[in-house]
Amino acid sequence: MTYDFLIIGAGTAGANCAYVLKNAGKSVAVVDKEGIAKGASGAAGAFLSPLPGKKNLYNSLVNNALSYSISFYEKLIPDGITKKGVLRVSNDNFDKTKLDANALKHKFLKFKNIEGYYYEDAAIVNPSDICKYLLKDCDFYQEDIQELKFKDGYYNFKNFKAKNIILAQGVNTPLLNYPYVDISPMFGVKIDVKTSTKVPFNIHKSISVSANKHDNTVAIGATQQNHSMTPTECNTTCDKCPFYVNTDEEDIESLLKQARELIDLNDLEIVKISKGARATIKSYFPVLGKVIDYEKSLKKYPSIKKGTKIPSELLEYYPNIYTINALGSRGFVFGPYLAKILKESILEGVDIPKEISLEKLFYKYARTQEV
Ligand SMILES: Cc1cc2nc3c(=O)[nH]c(=O)nc-3n(C[C@H](O)[C@H](O)[C@H](O)COP(=O)(O)OP(=O)(O)OC[C@H]3O[C@@H](n4cnc5c(N)ncnc54)[C@H](O)[C@@H]3O)c2cc1C
Repeated sequence: MTYDFLIIGAGTAGANCAYVLKNAGKSVAVVDKEGIAKGASGAAGAFLSPLPGKKNLYNSLVNNALSYSISFYEKLIPDGITKKGVLRVSNDNFDKTKLDANALKHKFLKFKNIEGYYYEDAAIVNPSDICKYLLKDCDFYQEDIQELKFKDGYYNFKNFKAKNIILAQGVNTPLLNYPYVDISPMFGVKIDVKTSTKVPFNIHKSISVSANKHDNTVAIGATQQNHSMTPTECNTTCDKCPFYVNTDEEDIESLLKQARELIDLNDLEIVKISKGARATIKSYFPVLGKVIDYEKSLKKYPSIKKGTKIPSELLEYYPNIYTINALGSRGFVFGPYLAKILKESILEGVDIPKEISLEKLFYKYARTQEV
């Protein structure tokens, strides 16, 4: 088989890209070594929450993505989204002033023993169902891709070939060397519980407790553990990590303790424990676009290291390879919105906003390298 696009990674990033490209009339295949939504995407809450606070580039991106994505899911799979809003309780990072002083529609609300700001535009989705639905019309191959071989205008694999590649690999080792995108994993655990308590909306402080979902379970998530690659310092909960140290019980206890501070969940029974690693970069912005060949571009324009900017079209790129990554803790908020931006950039030549572009990271990285 020959495809217009082969997407490597069947999480929210890859699945959303596959969906928009397929809808734009392209032939699309998706590969994943684990299956659909088996990486971070399968572990996600997946809470869709606004980011309040004084308006800046990052929270504007999140909030634009949120409103786009909520309407997208509502149209795509109405039964897959529970939209009941979120009550945000203040904490050290978000005090009352910060929660109140923003442009998002909200109101002050007291609920049982807690109080906070209620934002109507928030929801929760079933992450695996969403990814599977997005991929239902695309060919899917379960394969571990080890390398990209380009010949005569195509990337060639054992059973198929493709004109374009989209790398949507999350925390996994990238198939290309683009050192300016420095992904680090942030591990976490989320649990789904049964309870006789009716939770009317999502509640968020440092962790989130969801409203009762369509299957009547409640999600509680997620813990966050930065990952040091030094084995002796590592104390994460991810069983895919070579330095895995099992602290599931501690994580679950911590989630339940934090949930109890927000609401009493009666007759609680844990029905599912999910864990995974979110991919982040230092700035927390996601990244997407055509992959710049760092070595070749620097060889062609050594003055880039001194801060010279070159018109985009003159930089050197890997042929027809794009990436979408670093969706952080908001993969299901960002997924549909970023996929649309990437599609418009690839098919219509629309510029990717600077703050999420690869170029920005490329120049920043080059400037920090020895001349
Ligand atoms: C515990 C937890 C809770 C979270 N809660 C939320 C939440 O409430 N709301 C929210 O929006 N987000 C949440 N997130 C974040 C969200 O899950 C991530 O941002 C998102 O899933 C990242 O999606 P992705 O497609 O980039 O990566 P992934 O879902 O990790 O997908 C990458 C895929 O690529 C595949 N792959 C990589 N390399 C290869 C290769 N060479 N060959 C074949 N396959 C390959 C992997 O197998 C993997 O399946 C949470 C994450 C975690 C871990």
